[in-house]
Amino acid sequence: MVIEMKITGIKVYILKPQEFSREATRINVPSALVQILTDEEIDGITMLEEASHAEELVMKFKTGRKWLRSTEDFIQLIDADPFDRERIEKSFWNQYFFQRTAPSVLCALDECLWDIVGKALKMPIYKLIGAYREKIPAFASTQSYGSVEDYVRVALECVENGFKAIKIHPPRYWKRDIEVCRAVRDAVGEEVTLMLDPFHAYTREEALKVGREIEKLNFYWYEDPIPTTDIDGLAELCRSLDISVLTGENVHDIYSYAEIIRRNAADGLRCLDVNVGGITGMLKVAHLAELFGMKCELHSWGHPWQQVAHLHIMLSIKNCDFFEMPFPIGIFDQGTRDVVRIDREGYVHAPRKPGLGIDVDWDEIRGRTIRVIAWPK
Ligand SMILES: [Mg+2]
Repeated sequence: MVIEMKITGIKVYILKPQEFSREATRINVPSALVQILTDEEIDGITMLEEASHAEELVMKFKTGRKWLRSTEDFIQLIDADPFDRERIEKSFWNQYFFQRTAPSVLCALDECLWDIVGKALKMPIYKLIGAYREKIPAFASTQSYGSVEDYVRVALECVENGFKAIKIHPPRYWKRDIEVCRAVRDAVGEEVTLMLDPFHAYTREEALKVGREIEKLNFYWYEDPIPTTDIDGLAELCRSLDISVLTGENVHDIYSYAEIIRRNAADGLRCLDVNVGGITGMLKVAHLAELFGMKCELHSWGHPWQQVAHLHIMLSIKNCDFFEMPFPIGIFDQGTRDVVRIDREGYVHAPRKPGLGIDVDWDEIRGRTIRVIAWPK
């Protein structure tokens, strides 16, 4: 039996900035809950950290003509079949790829379409893709702190909370970063897996020095030591170091991954939904990595919708080792009670509800809504 559905509209709830605790490394800007409506009793919902991108999606819904001549037909979002995801999104990308925000706007559309399809078929998304596993180990992903003592304290808290792996976001001064890595390794012992993510902070020379130190400390991966734009520098680092060098989460389209791989500029990839157009884009990057024998470690650092969008892919691919859990636990929770948590062995488990697997806490959302934008009105 073929299910016939049509997209009938979009509603965007612009939300007051969340009051993050002092520790959260996050910009407090209005976020948005995005809801795509259909002619059945089924809607697709996701969240965008930046409300302006959600407003842009409403503009795309209003658009009735194509901007660029294209070999493909222009698909109007109203009346489109939510099951025609590939056709809708190819059309979207062909029309808007030149806009800086296109991957993020496409991400909201894509995640809502997956949510609709999952709800229509009463299946969680990872099962629709094809499940590989039902749980995955999580690493605690720290905030950035000022002192070595803070990192040691936080690392010990992570271990107390059941994590077997920790990724350090260091102060981003290479000498101090080495001190932090030594102190944390010393404090947690050899049994805990450690990774370092200085978020593009170093020069090529500094990156090599830090890399050699964390190799001695038996770190598991070395993420974004230098800017992703320095492809030759990354390739040189990959050649010079034994530790796995990861990059990619700040690439702003799926196509740039091909160049990173072709030029041997990464040992493994990182990937983030809002930069590659959502679940569909991440899945393509993960499969590309798989074919080249590479890991694709997905970035699940964010609000609950972002976390589960990444989790569904992790559960349906083999080449990802960890779920990234922001620490302190729950620091980015908002808008729902269906939040991802670890069990006592440090694993996160598959969402059980259909689609993305998240129910909206409408009381909270209504309480935080500044404005609702809808199309058609
Ligand atoms: Mg990172």
